[in-house]
Amino acid sequence: MGSSRVRAALGRLAREWASVVYPEECILCAAPAAAVCSPCRMRLSALPVRCETMQVRGFSLPLYSCDPSVADDVRRIVAAYKDRQVRAAVTPLAGMLSRGLAAAWAQHPQRLRVVPVPPTRRAVRRRGYVPLCDVLRRTAYPPGATVHLNGLSWTRAVADQRGLDRNRRADNLRGAMVCRDPDLAGAPVVVVDDVVTTGATIHAATEALLSAAAVVTGVVALTHIPGRRQVASERQSG
Ligand SMILES: [Zn+2]
Repeated sequence: MGSSRVRAALGRLAREWASVVYPEECILCAAPAAAVCSPCRMRLSALPVRCETMQVRGFSLPLYSCDPSVADDVRRIVAAYKDRQVRAAVTPLAGMLSRGLAAAWAQHPQRLRVVPVPPTRRAVRRRGYVPLCDVLRRTAYPPGATVHLNGLSWTRAVADQRGLDRNRRADNLRGAMVCRDPDLAGAPVVVVDDVVTTGATIHAATEALLSAAAVVTGVVALTHIPGRRQVASERQSG
């Protein structure tokens, strides 16, 4: 039993205790609410899904995420969910992912395969669960879409992405993922991640899928915070 696992267990206990002692409040405005209050949810859902273009392996992929005006709000909800274990945040996050997938599907209304970026072993050890998979389990899917939770896997251990610059992140992840799901060959695939920053993870995932003959049609993320230094609450290679 590693000391990191003990620390994670103690952290979970402390947070559970805190939620008993302190009333629940909105992650964004501190109003009494479980995770995110109704006015904040309405503010987030009133905005259209943002669609940008991402360059991957020389071609353009659409990246669907939240409106830039609320990108940091959504990052805070993701951080509360992943690192403070505010489990009720799964509902608004799943709602946002549903909207992103609907937007991706509208442009490619085929039998869409949804493939999440896999968690690293280190992240699973630290948290004891996989946040993105829990969100995907609560997500509403467009007609005909299927989820492939194990569509991608890591081929080796990767260094923590925090503290690495753009080039080092790309090097760290190059060839680190593989697709072993035969159902994805020739199929239209949407890659899903929670927070996209430099795009290095999306590049690695796309490379693996293309190598397995999948047709990557887009990327859906909860939020895209480009060029921003990663903070502890963001992706730590999973
Ligand atoms: Zn609020």
